[in-house]
Amino acid sequence: MIKLYINEKEVVCHEGTTILQAAESAGIIIPKICYHEKLTPPGLCRQCVVEVEGARVLLPSCITGVREGMKVQTDSPRVKRVRKTILEMLDNCTDLSEAPELQIQMKKYGVENGRFRDTVKRDYPVKDDNPFYIRDYSKCIVCGRCVQVCSEDIQFSYALTTGGRGFENRITTNFDKPLPETSCVFCGNCIEVCPSGALVSRREYSATGEAND
Ligand code: SF4
Repeated sequence: MIKLYINEKEVVCHEGTTILQAAESAGIIIPKICYHEKLTPPGLCRQCVVEVEGARVLLPSCITGVREGMKVQTDSPRVKRVRKTILEMLDNCTDLSEAPELQIQMKKYGVENGRFRDTVKRDYPVKDDNPFYIRDYSKCIVCGRCVQVCSEDIQFSYALTTGGRGFENRITTNFDKPLPETSCVFCGNCIEVCPSGALVSRREYSATGEAND
């Protein structure tokens, strides 16, 4: 067993546990965005970073294992500043109106609109190409959960993938084909894990704009 200290609280856990899991076992909540408990942690969003004594940089708690005697701060001023900045950047380039978990985090960290005033919002046509799902990638935060669930983590369909670079980095299908022309089996797992309302069932779709192919 490993003993460490999280926010000065002694926590004992098994070797191989991540800091995030150790904190949650002790009732300490660390915010996260891309992490989903049923999926392989991708360590992408950096919202779960923590301060570890002796480490020069903040470490993503979802992919950092515990060590004996480790001293961790999950809510230090430096950590809060980083989380707030990540949320501000996301908020300025993405429509987060249907991302309830992120709305709660933005309120908690006092996200101010407009700190990155010149940022362009990502604006993609709504994809309405099948009888079951609507894909509205203007709301996508590129957390990657849908790609993971569609591939090795659950479904092994490989219908979804990432495309583009930098600002244009986005979720797509191979050759950007409509979903019915891919290996998608319409299992619905991607909708289940999407935190931002980018993937919704046709029934739930509530946007006012007209859907396009
Ligand atoms: S569509 Fe949803 S699950 Fe997929 S990357 Fe975007 S926000 Fe994440």
